[in-house]
Parts: sequence; structure tokens; C-alpha cells
Amino acid sequence: MTENDDKKLVVPPTQENKQKCLCPDCPSYNQCMQDKGEVLFCSSGATSCELEKWGCPCVRCPVQLEYHNIGLFYSEKGALKK
Ligand code: SF4
Repeated sequence: MTENDDKKLVVPPTQENKQKCLCPDCPSYNQCMQDKGEVLFCSSGATSCELEKWGCPCVRCPVQLEYHNIGLFYSEKGALKK
């Protein structure tokens, strides 16, 4: 268990947030992620798929704006916690 495990998610994994998430439109979003239904990486954590970084839409995502976040590539870095 790491120190990060004790922290709370910044973005709750609600259906509404999943629908607003721009991950499926991301150039880095691949077939494996789609097959596994992975979205909302800023809440659900890093992808379990191989990741080739081609870009990141998080900067213009409504979820990001709503929770006042400024990060990128949550698919690699994992969930935002505080
Ligand atoms: S900030 Fe990025 S990971 Fe989080 S919901 Fe938006 S597109 Fe998905």
C-alpha cells in the first residue's frame, strides 16, 4: 500500500463524468482500451493496455474544467487524488 492509496479521488467515477470524458476521442485511445471500456482515467486510474502517446484531450475536457484540474495523460499517470 502506498501513501497515495489513502487519498481520495478528485474526480468521482460517476456515469455523468464517464459520458463527458473525452478519452474515446483521444488519438492515444486504442482498440484495447475500447474493448475494455476504459474511460475516465483521471478517476479510474492508468490504462491496463499498452499506451502509445499521440496526444491528450484532457486539457479541453469538461470534467477537467469542472474539477479545476490541470494535468494530462492520466491514462499513464493514473487517477488524481488529494
Ligand atoms: S480529464 Fe482526461 S481522463 Fe479525465 S475525463 Fe477528461 S479526457 Fe478523460
